[in-house]
Amino acid sequence: MKRFVIETWGCQMNVHDSEKMAGILRGCGYEPAASAAEADLVLLNTCSVREKAAAKVFSRLGALRRLKRARPSMVLGVCGCVAQVEGETIFRRAPWVDLVMGPRNLAQLGDLLERARRDGRSLSLARDDDPIVFPSGTAARAPGPKAYVTVMEGCNKRCAFCIVPQTRGREVYRDAEAIVAEARALAADGHPEIELLGQNVNAWHHGPDDLASLLHQIDRLPGVRRLRFTTSHPGHLSRSIMEAMRDLPSVCNHLHLPAQSGSDRVLRRMRRGYTRARYLAKIDWLRAAVPDMAFSTDLIVGFPGETEEDFEATLALVRAGGFAQIYAFAYSRRPGTEAATAPDTVPAEVQSERLQRLLAVQEEITARVNASLLGRTFEVLLDGPSRLDEGVVKGRTRCNRIVHLPANPPAARGFLTARILRVHAHSLTGEPVASPSAA
Ligand code: SAM
Repeated sequence: MKRFVIETWGCQMNVHDSEKMAGILRGCGYEPAASAAEADLVLLNTCSVREKAAAKVFSRLGALRRLKRARPSMVLGVCGCVAQVEGETIFRRAPWVDLVMGPRNLAQLGDLLERARRDGRSLSLARDDDPIVFPSGTAARAPGPKAYVTVMEGCNKRCAFCIVPQTRGREVYRDAEAIVAEARALAADGHPEIELLGQNVNAWHHGPDDLASLLHQIDRLPGVRRLRFTTSHPGHLSRSIMEAMRDLPSVCNHLHLPAQSGSDRVLRRMRRGYTRARYLAKIDWLRAAVPDMAFSTDLIVGFPGETEEDFEATLALVRAGGFAQIYAFAYSRRPGTEAATAPDTVPAEVQSERLQRLLAVQEEITARVNASLLGRTFEVLLDGPSRLDEGVVKGRTRCNRIVHLPANPPAARGFLTARILRVHAHSLTGEPVASPSAA
């Protein structure tokens, strides 16, 4: 039996792409290995959204070279967004790589492996607007209550900083019937939580359907108790999607809504297509309509031309947004993007100073927001034992907060009600209670 390892970087789409690749490999007779040292096939599923993430791939390839020297029969592949951007260059920079495959070529993995074995090397980067050919039901999903379902591939936005449209191509949408059938099968197979995935998920549409009507169709399926979708663009967050979030029992009260900046001037230069006021108005609407609504966001600091005043507008947005969590990044120049040629770059030391200030402001907000949860009860969907402590299980609330609980008496899986006893920067500690009236 041949054994494989897939090392995954980046977003949820990459995590699910790795599950799809694992499914194909199992179909080809492979089984998972515990580490690269024990594997016959090592695939790196890569992210190129920031320069550091892309650079890590080449340093990992450097480390894997030793394994390849020791066992020349081991097949080494680079997949995902770095593969798409670098293409043939990967073979030149790391000639010990056998296979290079872009994110739109997953379904060909079996053939590419065959070709690599036969010809010594294989490469596939076709990135046209093919309909999604990935066979539903093939993915080897990670164990746990949540299952990812792809609704679309690609991104048609032209955000000035972002390399994703280059790596993942134009948007193509799965039809509602296929998505609903996959969600139905997953729920029947013991996944009470479904998360719909797309780089621009709330732009999904097909025939008469949009994301709101898709949420309605999945909400009705037996066994679906929690429904999430990511990643949303603020410009596509329509009133009908927000109403679905308010009205549908399974749709969770958490939304990841990347703002990127709090300055209208910077948002314009980023070509985000919304203003700070429109962003905040949507958040306010949802907060008023949906009990315990929680938000997380992505923010970029030090985008070319960002002044101290622009940055302070971002700090003000963070204060006004009351986010449960933020993901903050220093702007990273990506080749081929509009901003890559901007002359007015922000020095690295200013970027990092702003990043620290932003994180410090959010730390205060997280502490305040979390303190308001103390003593309250929440429904928790357990997803298994804690990695750090055998005596503890972990799960998530509907508003996407991680909760740790003593392992005894609760089982490691299923739903329970928990009272929050302590709050930390990135998680909560609770105790199970009998009350069925959890938020
Ligand atoms: N479309 C997806 C989304 O909205 O989540 C993918 C974007 S990327 C995986 C996630 C985040 O990375 C973005 O929301 C943005 O904040 C950040 N990002 C993207 N390009 C960046 C760049 N050039 N420099 C720094 N951060 C970047």
